[in-house]
Parts: sequence; structure tokens; C-alpha cells
Amino acid sequence: MVIIMKPDAPKEIIEKIERKMESLGCQVHISEGENHTIMGLVGDTTRIDPSQIEANDYVDRLVRIQHPFKLANKIFHPKKTVVTVDGIEIGGDEITVIAGPCSVESEEQLMTIARAVKASGAKFLRGGAFKPRTSPYSFQGMGEEGLKLLQKAKAETGMPIVTEIMDQEQFDMVCHYTDILQIGARNMQNFSLLKQAGKCNKPVLLKRGLSATIEELLMAAEYIMSEGNTNVILCERGIRTFETYTRNTLDLSAIPAIKELSHLPVIVDPSHAAGKWRMVEPLSKAAIAVGADGLIIEVHHQPEMALSDGAQSLKPEKFDGLMKAVNKIAAI
Ligand code: PEP
Ligand code: MN
Repeated sequence: MVIIMKPDAPKEIIEKIERKMESLGCQVHISEGENHTIMGLVGDTTRIDPSQIEANDYVDRLVRIQHPFKLANKIFHPKKTVVTVDGIEIGGDEITVIAGPCSVESEEQLMTIARAVKASGAKFLRGGAFKPRTSPYSFQGMGEEGLKLLQKAKAETGMPIVTEIMDQEQFDMVCHYTDILQIGARNMQNFSLLKQAGKCNKPVLLKRGLSATIEELLMAAEYIMSEGNTNVILCERGIRTFETYTRNTLDLSAIPAIKELSHLPVIVDPSHAAGKWRMVEPLSKAAIAVGADGLIIEVHHQPEMALSDGAQSLKPEKFDGLMKAVNKIAAI
């Protein structure tokens, strides 16, 4: 971290800041230029609150050299993190596809979709039992009954489960049934939920918030990791931009960007990004081509009857085509 003082900064103020930084555990290197005095901080800067420094009238600006995330940072952990569930890897040498309905709606619906996606090569079954809906009048999910159905589908197909946890009250219940805890876009900065996920022993699939920067996503991962749970999978699911043709805008550049910054696996959700089923396959191909470790795809055998997100759900035969296409790209 570098503190650039204003040209008129008095010596005693500079010394005061120097003493404060040293008391927080940093070494301070001061260089006096013709106009500005520059203070270079070396060592662990995690205890420093940048806004406190910037509040000083004589501080011109503060420049960060390191990223604020540590545990998620590739510099401190150059080896790729591979999350393994029931022997299935996410972030390993092969791509991993998670597929299933947006919401669990009934036993027949879930079993039909689970069997189909398994036959096409999906490794994990997704399905929401608690749904974050924009309208309180929309279907809110089946709750615990939905979680039980997911377990039933797992027992038959062998596919581990990915399901969303929406609040702390349901935490133990959802944790009990699921193999991977999904934290949705709307909860990416629910810091108490992140901390709780950090204390549990299940891997966490953390989705990027609707208007979160890459750094904010990595800081959210840092919340989970700082509580002890380092099995975090990041998910780019589209962000809010001025474009309204698609539901969100898939930020493909986030994948190579995160790969540069972090050792955590990154998967892509083209379903929520596009909001349109026709765009799911092309975006999946692009995601794999830019280096995503996998995909999470919504599939429904009767999308026109789906209780949520039918417009972006692929029919099983379309999903089968997608799997064949992305596997070819992954091989390249
Ligand atoms: C979902 O996966 O069904 C979902 C609600 O996703 P997101 O949090 O990305 O909107
Ligand atoms: Mn959905």
C-alpha cells in the first residue's frame, strides 16, 4: 500500500501516520519528492482501514499494491483448488456440469429430469427448494419436502445435490440434505450467511451478485474462507447492465480474470445470464472456451409448465446436444 501525501502536508502529520502504521504492524518507507511525500507500507496491511487514512485532510490518495483478498488469492496459494464431492472433482482436469430444474416441483418432475441429465453426462443435480423470487406472489419452492425429493433423486441416480440456502434459519436443514450449498446472487453480500457457510463442512457454490465486481465476489469468498471453509466454487451468472435484450449480461471476461487472481474453481451459469434457452448452448461453448471449470444449467422436460424460469430451461434433448458440443470444446 502506498500513501501519497498532499504537497502541503506538515512533517508532524506525516510522522503521526508513520507511527500509526507501524503500530498496526507495517514497516514504513518514506520518500520525499519535490512536491509530494510518499509513504510505502510493507508487511501485513490487513489491519489497516484505508478509509481512516483517506479521511486525513493531508492525504492526497492511497494506492493499493496487493488485493484485499488473501485466502482466495493466487499469490498465496498458487496451486489450483479442486473441490471433490463423492469422488467427483470441480476444478480438476475435466469440466463438470451441474444440471437440473430451477425449482423442485414434484417427484415425477424431478425424477424425469434427473434421469435425463444423468444420461447426458451431468455430474451433479441442481434444484431449488427455497427460491429467491422477485415477486412474493411467485412460487417460493417446496421447502423441506423439495430437499427430501432431491435426496431421493440422488439415491437413484448417484448424483450429488446442489441446492440454494437463502437464510440462516434454514441453514442446518439445507446443510443436512445437500452436498454443495448454493449461495445465490441476491445473497452474495449477506455477510452473516457467508460466515455461517464458512463454518459448515459442505462446499459452497457462490454466485456473483447482480451488480458485484470481481473483487467483491472474491471478498465474499474470503468471508467464507476466513471462517475455515476453503471449498468454494465461484459462479459467473451474468450481471446487470444497460442491455435489456437478455436477462443479464454474461461477463465472459470474469473467467480469465478470476483465473488470474484466484486459485478457486469458476463455473458459469448461462441460464440465468441469458434468460433465454436458445442462448444457453452458445454461451456454454464460449464459457468453456475461455476456461470455465464447468457449467450449471437449468433443464426442464416441460418448460412451458415450469413453475420458475421455464423460458431459460433446456429440454432434455437440447441439453444432450449441449453436452456433446461442450465436451468437444473442452477436449480442445
Ligand atoms: C438459481 O440458481 O435458481 C438462482 C436463483 O440463481 P441466481 O442466484 O444466480 O439468480
Ligand atoms: Mn432459476
